[in-house]
Amino acid sequence: MIDPVFATLGLETENSGVLAGSQAIQATGPRLASRNPATGEVLAYAQAASPGDYEQVAEVAVKAFARWRSRPAPVRGALIRDLGDALRLQKQNLGRLVTLEAGKIRTEAEGEVQEMIDMCDYAVGLSRCLHGLTIASERPVHRLMEQWHPLGPVGIITAFNFPVAVWAWNATLAAVCGDSTIWKPSPITPLTAIAVTKIASQVAEAHECPGLFSLCLGETEIGERMVADPRLPLISATGSCRMGRRVAEVVGARLGRTLLELGGNNAVIVTPSANLDLALRAVVFAAVGTAGQRCTTLRRLIVHESIIDDLLARLGHAYKSVRIGDPADDSTLMGPLINEQAVASMMQALEQAAEQGGTIVTGGKRIDRPGWFVEPAIVRATGDMPIVAEETFAPILYVIPYRTLDEAIAIQNGVEQGLSSAIFTDRVTEAERFLSAEGSDCGIANVNLGTSGAEIGGAFGGEKATGGGREAGSDAWKAYMRRQTCTINGGSALPLAQGIRFEL
Ligand code: NAD
Repeated sequence: MIDPVFATLGLETENSGVLAGSQAIQATGPRLASRNPATGEVLAYAQAASPGDYEQVAEVAVKAFARWRSRPAPVRGALIRDLGDALRLQKQNLGRLVTLEAGKIRTEAEGEVQEMIDMCDYAVGLSRCLHGLTIASERPVHRLMEQWHPLGPVGIITAFNFPVAVWAWNATLAAVCGDSTIWKPSPITPLTAIAVTKIASQVAEAHECPGLFSLCLGETEIGERMVADPRLPLISATGSCRMGRRVAEVVGARLGRTLLELGGNNAVIVTPSANLDLALRAVVFAAVGTAGQRCTTLRRLIVHESIIDDLLARLGHAYKSVRIGDPADDSTLMGPLINEQAVASMMQALEQAAEQGGTIVTGGKRIDRPGWFVEPAIVRATGDMPIVAEETFAPILYVIPYRTLDEAIAIQNGVEQGLSSAIFTDRVTEAERFLSAEGSDCGIANVNLGTSGAEIGGAFGGEKATGGGREAGSDAWKAYMRRQTCTINGGSALPLAQGIRFEL
């Protein structure tokens, strides 16, 4: 049965997943089924793009960029202000759709829509703050300055687990920076992408810029086409490290620019001085929230050996009180995994953990009901177990003992990913050591809060195999613009830099 929210958001049982602005292109690629992970049932279908359909969308994005780039940035901001208002009106409806399609509990699903709204607010302000530097020139009567210009149409590739927020991180900044965008969402979550693109495109049309936000639904084949397309100077890609390696290779070969937001293998260190009540609450949310399907999900808990038994006992107790079930039910704290493959990966990882010497302390079983529900698992482990170095996109928490803080930091940094990290301590020397250049090697380092749930004001992203990209706040906007260094000679002489003399 079709959910009433479908009609409100302009969705049908069969949808075109190719939108050039609000204009639906008759998509001729494969037909994708969107399934509700809480029941396994098909919600609706979306027709993906063929390579020919992609060509049409790319042409629209190129034309939209040519018009949009010459609008003053604050005028571009006015469009994003209207987009924020349009999203506010649909917050509950879009949240409901995220719950249906991605299985997030209601408060997290609406939180994801709120993140889009927050990004709009941020981008509106930013549209009046895109600034360059004036630099002291070594030559008399010369002015040296930097200016920032729009870059071009931007390709946005997103993962299933943040089906709308990651688009907004990119598209709102790109728009105020003067760029059009083409979005290729995960083929697992096509409906949220269609609904959001329709809303954004209506706003863009009201501002006489049709085609500013386009959508091209597809699997790897369409992603590969975007990545190889020289008309897209920037590819912003969010997903697994495997995908990021491929995108970096293809975009690098054409000397394009990438913004990569890839997998995490995040850790929390709990020292003997920590406030354990605080640590416990943070750990449970970071490890179990979104059913362990956040890039910032806590996967490794590194605990001082003097308190590990106490913390494990408390965690085991807390895990038993996590209410697992229908994500639309307000009392639920943990919904389903995204699909059958995710359940299989979790079970396989737990088998490997046991083979490698780990002990399952609690959870880890599939729940016998329709959909893809599991019990979150805690595994007592050691830092050198190979499975601990992998990101299994499921609620498995490896708990690892340590003796010295140096050892804890070495365990934390001893994986290829470098996204989010945290320490729980009441000692300033431990906190400062963790935040020092010899401390956490991650893009995000927190003290006395968990690894997940970043605010948009900071630049979000990670180092090493997480890809090095930064999105959302701080100066992340610079990725969406091209920098131009300009020198203006205000005099009648022609002095050369470095004092070079070249007289005719
Ligand atoms: P995924 O890598 O399977 O897919 C992500 C996107 O990449 C999809 O749209 C997919 O179709 C596309 N894609 C795959 N191969 C491609 C190729 N060769 N060329 C172009 N596009 C290609 O990831 P997923 O399972 O959807 O998401 C989970 C992963 O995403 C986890 O590793 C998670 O940590 C990561 N993630 C990272 C962040 C971050 O900000 N660092 C945020 C969310 C998710």
